[in-house]
Amino acid sequence: MNEREVGLCATCRWVQIVRNRRDSVFYRCTRAETDARFVRYPPLPMLRCPGYERQADDQSSNLRRGGL
Ligand code: SF4
Repeated sequence: MNEREVGLCATCRWVQIVRNRRDSVFYRCTRAETDARFVRYPPLPMLRCPGYERQADDQSSNLRRGGL
């Protein structure tokens, strides 16, 4: 998935990228652990989110390099 297909979660500091044995990739929202407004696996692309906080540049560039 590219950044456009993922939406805001692609560059959010709260996302954790999970890859299963079949090499499928899931975007897990770690805010869901403590805040009921969020779901663990949000529907993508995420276009608007009250919890969005942009990652530091080094984190988001790693994501882009991974082609996710
Ligand atoms: S806070 Fe919103 S944008 Fe960030 S990972 Fe969770 S659902 Fe995605």
